[in-house]
Amino acid sequence: MRAEVANNMKVATHRYDSADTLRHDAALPPVRSLHGRLLTLLIALVAIIQLPTFLAVNSAVRKDVLDRAGHELDRGVAVFERLLAVRGEQLGDSVELAARDFGFREAVANGDDATVQSVLVNHGGRINANFATMIGLDGSVIATTDNLTRASKDVAFVDLISQIGSRRLFATVTAINGQPYQVVLAPVMAPRRIGWVSMGFVLDQPMLEKMRELTGLQLSVAVTDSTSTPRWISTLVPSEQAQLTHFVAQHQSVDKPLSDSEYLTRTVELAGGSSSSAREGAVQAVLQMSLAEALQPYSRLRDSLSLITLLSVLLSAIGAWIVARGVIRPLRRLMVAAQRIGSGDYQAEVRVDRNDELGELARVFNHMQLGIADRERHIEHQAFHDSLTGLPNRNNVEARLEESIAVGRKTGTPLAVLTLDINRFKDINDTLGHNVGDLLLIGIGERLVEAMRPNDVVARLGGDEFVVIIPGSCAEQARQRAEQIVRAVSQSLRLQSMDLFPDISLGIAIYPEHGDEAADLLRRADIAMYDAKQSHQSIALYKTGRDAAHLRRLSLVNELRRAVSDDELRVYYQPKLDIETSTSHHVEALVRWQHPRDGLITPDEFIPLAEHAGSIHLITDWVLRNVIRQCREWSDMGLDIGVSVNISAMDLATGNLPFVVRSYLTRFGVVPGKLLLEITESAVMRDSSCALNVLNHLKACGVKLAIDDFGTGHSSLAHLKRLPVDELKIDKSFVMNMTRDSDDAVIVRSTIELGHNMGLTVVAEGVEDEQALRMLKNFHCDVAQGFLISRPLPADELTAWMVARKCATDTNPLRMLKAVPTT
Ligand code: C2E
Ligand code: CA
Ligand code: CA
Repeated sequence: MRAEVANNMKVATHRYDSADTLRHDAALPPVRSLHGRLLTLLIALVAIIQLPTFLAVNSAVRKDVLDRAGHELDRGVAVFERLLAVRGEQLGDSVELAARDFGFREAVANGDDATVQSVLVNHGGRINANFATMIGLDGSVIATTDNLTRASKDVAFVDLISQIGSRRLFATVTAINGQPYQVVLAPVMAPRRIGWVSMGFVLDQPMLEKMRELTGLQLSVAVTDSTSTPRWISTLVPSEQAQLTHFVAQHQSVDKPLSDSEYLTRTVELAGGSSSSAREGAVQAVLQMSLAEALQPYSRLRDSLSLITLLSVLLSAIGAWIVARGVIRPLRRLMVAAQRIGSGDYQAEVRVDRNDELGELARVFNHMQLGIADRERHIEHQAFHDSLTGLPNRNNVEARLEESIAVGRKTGTPLAVLTLDINRFKDINDTLGHNVGDLLLIGIGERLVEAMRPNDVVARLGGDEFVVIIPGSCAEQARQRAEQIVRAVSQSLRLQSMDLFPDISLGIAIYPEHGDEAADLLRRADIAMYDAKQSHQSIALYKTGRDAAHLRRLSLVNELRRAVSDDELRVYYQPKLDIETSTSHHVEALVRWQHPRDGLITPDEFIPLAEHAGSIHLITDWVLRNVIRQCREWSDMGLDIGVSVNISAMDLATGNLPFVVRSYLTRFGVVPGKLLLEITESAVMRDSSCALNVLNHLKACGVKLAIDDFGTGHSSLAHLKRLPVDELKIDKSFVMNMTRDSDDAVIVRSTIELGHNMGLTVVAEGVEDEQALRMLKNFHCDVAQGFLISRPLPADELTAWMVARKCATDTNPLRMLKAVPTT
């Protein structure tokens, strides 16, 4: 059943607005940067590892290649020198052949210059010598084929001859006339040496080109002297030739590249400058290896190395990206999920597709989400539901009512709001304990839910107050439903082996008749409920305009306690007449409230409020104290007056009353027999062993008891018999109509008989005319009370009334009737 109660409630979900979500988004750190940082870090790591490797390999290979190139250059230089030597030897052979020529030797010996000349031309021409010369022992030129050399002939050959020594054949390089020549000398023997044949070959461009083909090097040759800039014969392109002079001047024999980017270079001195031939300079050869060529195999290697490095960086970047994404993606999913949870959505789970720490984190996250959702549901349920009955609470019902009103407004259908509470719930709590009170509330909640139809809403407003919303119901239907509900709820309820008959009051307000706001409808249903209580009916429909009365009631309730403590209450006394003797020895104390603002307020208005507010015991206590003291005063004045005090049903619910009564009687020294407590029939009929107990106690003290308003309740005679009462007061509604309504007269007469049969004194209230009094006398009624005898009077007026009539002391039985004018 509790589950059903719970099922009947919709769960209101709280969602944050979108601005909230935006704030959440803004608060989150940018995730991209983490991804980027991871990526950068991993790439930087790979680059840091790769780059030195690349540089080390690069420089090692470059050095190695340059070393090799150096060696190759050295080999080229050797080859170059060897080529020159070989060429010298070949030329030497031809020169020697000419020197050995018999005819030639003869011609030289004979000084036949013409023959010498022709032989030189022949032999020289055969080997393409640039010049062929016959030199005398003193170095002088005897004959020659080349006129161009003549100008310098002396210097060149004298120098060379000095170098020959004992060699048979001499080949060398020398500068002649500013030009580099390979010169070969062979002695002419006849049989003694008579001179030398010399042939010279200029080291020219074609020859260098040939040598270049064989050595693979760039070759440049020049005659250098201090006076003029050397003219290079070179395989280099002219623009590069221009730099040669400067370079050679700076780096004599240094194997440094000509310019770092271009050549590896060796300079070789082919012929040193001679002191004797100062005009002729040294012959220098510059051999160069193109660095570009030398480094060509290396550059391929470097390119592939760079490519490998680049690729590995690229691959690691991709790898890093994948790894980073692998980490970031689940993190991002978690982040999105956290945002989602932050905005109050706990539905979706975070996907878990991995077994690592991140997977574990996601699992923990999901678990946490379930926990939060659970707790929020719980909190939400607590916020919108009553913890005792599980029904929606006031917060919830107002929203639900607004919703129903909105639907009603749209569809043009009415709806009914029923509020109900348990009568005398406080008594039950006080006498049977809060435990039973709680069980009663739960039981009533369950019965209400059972009586519900689809679309109805049942809620507990707090305390003992419940509300039922019935959509689509007009006033008439609402009344029928209310009757069903009252019937269902009033069934006996077994709580802790006790049978309770819950007694409820129910108020109805209808939309749109009684209001179109939830708060108004609830308030007016509440007002109707109080009206029901006050009119002692179980159901009341709101009557238009009851709001003001309700407000007045509310303010009175708030002021009640103050009224008691500030002595704003007044006791009026209405005399009771002994019909038989026409005397009065007894009065009924009737309380009024002298309100500072509103004037005199009757008990009919504020006593039910005090009962409902649970402050009736304050009033009872106040009245008892004042009445018993007044009794004492009368007694002191020599007036023998007994007093009736009205006791509320709630006063019987606690066992306190006999104690209070006794203490005042003792305090003011009043005999208990002077006091009579009136309890309404409905109060004593209510099944309460406690009430009976209290009555027995009071009775035992010597206090008298009366049943008030007899005839309005549903007393069972059996129950009545068990009550320790002395007096029966017939309700004034019968007495007042008795003279006009024969039914009422019958009721009054039979009630008098019943009372007498039970041994009780019978009092008729509401005696307003003489005819009624006579009828009562005829019916043998014992006591009469009513406006005919006297209205309720303040104590001093009552005293005066008593004294004037000497009622309290006079024992003449006819006096009273005489005082009443007869018709
Ligand atoms: P009740 O106990 O039935 O009191 C009698 C009521 O009938 C009084 O109204 C009285 O003024 C009125 N009454 C007396 N004679 C006539 C008559 O001839 N004609 C008419 N029409 N009325 C007559 P009152 O004083 O307004 O008291 C109303 C009720 O308030 C009382 O009904 C009683 O139930 C309650 N009450 C009064 N004082 C106290 C009190 O101190 N404690 C409690 N618990 N209830 C009180
Ligand atoms: Ca009374
Ligand atoms: Ca009465």
